[in-house]
Amino acid sequence: DLYNMVQDLKGNIRVYCRIRPIFNEEARSIVDFIGQDDSLVISDPSKPQREGRKIFKFNKVFGPTSSQNDIYADTQPLIRSVMDGYNVCIFAYGQTGSGKTHTMSCPSGGLANDMGINHLALNDLFHLSSMRKDIAEYEIQVQMVEIYNEQVRDLLAEDSSNTKYPFMLKLLEIRSCTADGGLSLPDATMHSVKSTADVIKLMKLGDDNRVISSTVLNNRSSRSHSILTVHVSGKDISGCTLRSCLHLIDLAGSERVDKSEVTGERLKEAQYINKSLSCLGDVITSLAQKNSHIPYRNSKLTLLLQHSLGGHAKTLMFAHINPERDSFGETISTLKFAQRVS
Ligand code: ADP
Ligand code: MG
Repeated sequence: DLYNMVQDLKGNIRVYCRIRPIFNEEARSIVDFIGQDDSLVISDPSKPQREGRKIFKFNKVFGPTSSQNDIYADTQPLIRSVMDGYNVCIFAYGQTGSGKTHTMSCPSGGLANDMGINHLALNDLFHLSSMRKDIAEYEIQVQMVEIYNEQVRDLLAEDSSNTKYPFMLKLLEIRSCTADGGLSLPDATMHSVKSTADVIKLMKLGDDNRVISSTVLNNRSSRSHSILTVHVSGKDISGCTLRSCLHLIDLAGSERVDKSEVTGERLKEAQYINKSLSCLGDVITSLAQKNSHIPYRNSKLTLLLQHSLGGHAKTLMFAHINPERDSFGETISTLKFAQRVS
């Protein structure tokens, strides 16, 4: 269709920026949001206005009053292309507290009308599969894993023999040679799902599993990447089959930690996160430049997503920023990262 034609001309990587609202009413935003819906101006709060301004341009910029539905309206065409056989990756990037989980999931205890991308996307996939019922038969399955300190862990492995800890700490190996259409995580628990409600139940299970393992390491969820993969397989009346997947990725917080202040486990985590986020940036940049060598192997995240990045696949990165003054440094670093991959 037209969207795919336009995409093919533009390349398959898009970057959107989303600006979180300010919660402290006294605080002033460092964002001088400018028009066209695709650029923003940031002012350095420590400099006189005319000297401290920087402009950044993306495929889209969503201001603090943008709704979840506004965001989804510009994401939907990608989701729909999964049903036509494209692999799609959607990343949420940004420092902790910038709104990544808000964009991707429903805020915990959130309102039904505040659903994030993964809920709206699943609604759409199930809706499309029922609309096409007469011409094609689709099966939808999900896996959910996290990457923490360069280890991939199944978030949906259950241990039914243990009532206190019904989850298993199951580490997974990535199969890098999946050219035959195989799965990159063949051992991750795969659940067939019939409705968005099924997936929400599983995501709740996966989130609980993440929390249980984080009792020792406080608030681990901001320091691991979580990946929900929706596998779609279909067969149409002429017997043609398709197989594609949608990866919904809530990345670890991108904030730099001050090496003089952290040590031990926390420093190790921070180094793993820095490395994997910069590898992701390198892979996307080399894809955009159409380099002959793409450094997928430098991190677990890019190796896992190898067959859904580049080639015939489509990528959307949301760069999240917190417009408060204290976040100026992190905001600039997020915008630079996003600029580099766009
Ligand atoms: P992250 O996952 O990047 O750490 P969260 O998504 O948890 O950040 O967001 C931090 C807080 O800000 C949460 O309480 C969340 O509900 C709120 N929040 C984030 N983005 C928005 C938004 N666009 N509108 C309203 N509240 C938001
Ligand atoms: Mg989060």
